[in-house]
Amino acid sequence: MDGFQEAATADETLDPPDWTDAGALSHRILDDAITYLKDVRKRPVWREMPAEVSSFFSAPLPRSPAPMADVYDDVARNVMPYPMGNVHPRFWAWYMGASNFTGALGDFLAAIQGSNLGGGNHAAGLMDSQVVNWMKETVGFPATAGGTLVSGGSMANIIGLTVARNVKAGVDVRERGVGAVPKPLRYYASDQVHSCHRKAMEALGLGNRALRRIPTDAGLRIDIAALKAAIAEDREAGFEPACVIGTAGTVNTGAVDDLQALATVAAEEDLWFHVDGCIGALIAIAPQNRSLVAGIEQADSIALDPHKWLHAPFEAGCALVRDASQHRNTFAVTPEYLESTPRGLASGAWLHDYGLQTSRGFRALKIWMALKEHGVDKFGRLIDQNIAQARYLTRLIEAEPALELMAPTTINIVSFRHRLAGASEERLKTFNTEIMLRLQEEGIAALSDTTVHGRHCLRVAIANHRTRRDDLDLLMREMLRLGREIAAVATPT
Ligand SMILES: *Cc1c(COP(=O)(O)O)cnc(C)c1O
Repeated sequence: MDGFQEAATADETLDPPDWTDAGALSHRILDDAITYLKDVRKRPVWREMPAEVSSFFSAPLPRSPAPMADVYDDVARNVMPYPMGNVHPRFWAWYMGASNFTGALGDFLAAIQGSNLGGGNHAAGLMDSQVVNWMKETVGFPATAGGTLVSGGSMANIIGLTVARNVKAGVDVRERGVGAVPKPLRYYASDQVHSCHRKAMEALGLGNRALRRIPTDAGLRIDIAALKAAIAEDREAGFEPACVIGTAGTVNTGAVDDLQALATVAAEEDLWFHVDGCIGALIAIAPQNRSLVAGIEQADSIALDPHKWLHAPFEAGCALVRDASQHRNTFAVTPEYLESTPRGLASGAWLHDYGLQTSRGFRALKIWMALKEHGVDKFGRLIDQNIAQARYLTRLIEAEPALELMAPTTINIVSFRHRLAGASEERLKTFNTEIMLRLQEEGIAALSDTTVHGRHCLRVAIANHRTRRDDLDLLMREMLRLGREIAAVATPT
């Protein structure tokens, strides 16, 4: 009897001690969140954290409890005012989406429901598959194709490249490993290919050198003749050409490889055709520009990125594989503790059979809710809008003698720099970097930089549903002001 009494009093839980208090605080958090997004335009894009904020994050592991209201105050004071800035209308650095409020609610509800998308018979599992089916539809893939939601484009590319390896290896590479592959496999992509493919080649055990970088033309698209020559040379040298990666929208300049031509080469040479569509696959839903990615529907696998042009809150990527059985055969393992049952919870699809994760988050909900609310056509128009904005900025740059366009603008990425009479390339880099840093530090706009055909340039990537044309006008004015100010103090004699 004594033991029974003890058990009845000792149970702890993480649930709030008082749900009414928790509700009141949650309402306050939600109100603050709404104001935060509503007023985003009034705040700087980015700001440096004061020392007391950065040191806040070295506090040790908390041992004792704190009221939830205090915990939230810490977040409100130290975290929310110092974002990366990509929800701001003048964030155009690197390449990422701008998130959206509905998606944030989706993430919240996904966590409240708490389902694990490793699989099983429950509504979240069906929704995960439905969103994958919708993604197939956006790029013109058959409904029978395989696919999975992953953390982002890098993982989505790894999925595609892994299926390519296993299909083309010529041996059971899952059982015997890459050491048993008779002829070393070769993959091909343009010299503009995203760095995640290098990591993928390394992780796949094929090695970085197995990915041949093919030169690009003046528009920074893969040179098809050079690709064919490289394939022929490799066959001659005893390699096994296995896969060609086409990029629909390079991260440097937004160049779109000729996907039709790549599909033809892949068919003629019996290669796997993978499309890295992290930036551009979704142009297929944009009425004014969809012809740019014609041919994507012929790919064997596609990586796309809902946290870019669908503005899903991080993280959300998607891998699609035309042949669902090739996809499943690459990843499926059924351990004794994950066997299906004819009815009940374990009777649904095992979604972990299509990738490397076992537990998976309910990332479908944030994508699903935003797509339902706005309809896919609106996302297509927003993509067209960003491309039109990039072309507008390009015209402003071309009309401005102090600025210089550094690569052709194909989609929503503009590469350019500020001129400086008589300056060396090195000095131009320092000068333009200073302009970029001042734009960030003054909270005006977030740009990034890169090197195109050996020359440093600034880069504006507009994957942002909050950007307006007057934001670009403001960027032009501020670029020119900073250019004058920096040149005035720093001109060497
Ligand atoms: C962003 C990007 C990736 C990587 O995607 P993540 O979502 O950042 O992992 C891969 N390829 C291209 C072309 C990209 O733009």
